[in-house]
Amino acid sequence: MKIVYTDKHAQHDPQTFIVRGVKQRSAEQPERATRLLDAAKGAGHEIADPKAYGVAPVQAIHRPEYIDFLQIAAREWAKLPGASPEVVPNVHPARYPATYPKSLVGRAGWHQVDTGCPIGPGTWDAALASAEVATTAADMVLSGTREAYALCRPPGHHAYADMAGGFCFLNNTAIAAQHLRARHARVAVLDVDVHHGNGTQGIFFERADVLTVSIHADPSSYYPYFWGHAHEAGAGAGDGFNLNLPLALGSADPPWLEAGDNALARIRDFAPSALVVALGLDASESDPLQGLKVTGAGFRAMAEKIARLGLPTVLVQEGGYLSDDLGRNLVQFLAGFEKGRSK
Ligand SMILES: [Zn+2]
Repeated sequence: MKIVYTDKHAQHDPQTFIVRGVKQRSAEQPERATRLLDAAKGAGHEIADPKAYGVAPVQAIHRPEYIDFLQIAAREWAKLPGASPEVVPNVHPARYPATYPKSLVGRAGWHQVDTGCPIGPGTWDAALASAEVATTAADMVLSGTREAYALCRPPGHHAYADMAGGFCFLNNTAIAAQHLRARHARVAVLDVDVHHGNGTQGIFFERADVLTVSIHADPSSYYPYFWGHAHEAGAGAGDGFNLNLPLALGSADPPWLEAGDNALARIRDFAPSALVVALGLDASESDPLQGLKVTGAGFRAMAEKIARLGLPTVLVQEGGYLSDDLGRNLVQFLAGFEKGRSK
């Protein structure tokens, strides 16, 4: 499998993650990517550098004022008296009609949905590099490579067109899907991260050309809480083009793989000519976030099913946190994918 990777992700090393009111170091650490890279290299996969695309693929998905905010936030925040080293909002416009604020503190609350997406001095450069990794993998698939894996960090699937959240800033999965649209009339996104892909859902919610399907732990008691419920089916032209398959917290391989069958049936029915997999590995039984209990064999079996669709496919790394199984689960997934292709 062709793997796209750059070490530019390491410039983003978030220190803030508030859990039940307690400040901790973020679980989204640079070591995640180096462990995944080492495991992939150890399994003999081929590593390639991303190409430089600048901001154009990002602009195809994200709003101008949000891109501007991400670029200037850390620098301007550092000028505020008594400011912390990372931009963390303390005020949000919440659910009522509101006016876009001029102040940086207000803009932070507007563009950062939660406290799990702190912005430091290296965040923009790392997020842009992560988007370039996804775009490069999508370009490989556009040029005829059957599949490519974007080893993205920071992840992206919780980021909306104008809002960061849950460790995510630029939606790499959405950027890859939009890039594939250049030559594919219909593109499907299958999100297998333990968390609902709420940003991706939000970006494509009113579109019928990109089907979004997500398998995740039930948001009634798990992040992102407000999105990912089964009744969210899309709106306007996109009505019927979003499918959420929430699973009871702690579900193991059998219900996860059954949800995979349901997801793939919907994707076959949609008949896309290309696929993006939002590849979170945090559904693992060993993941510190403990949402689902998927085994290495489960990841392998899911990958094999997905590969049998026979579609040109971009795999985009999303979540998956430090555990002894993190790299092993990636290797299992890639092996399962290659096995499904060979059938
Ligand atoms: Zn996740």
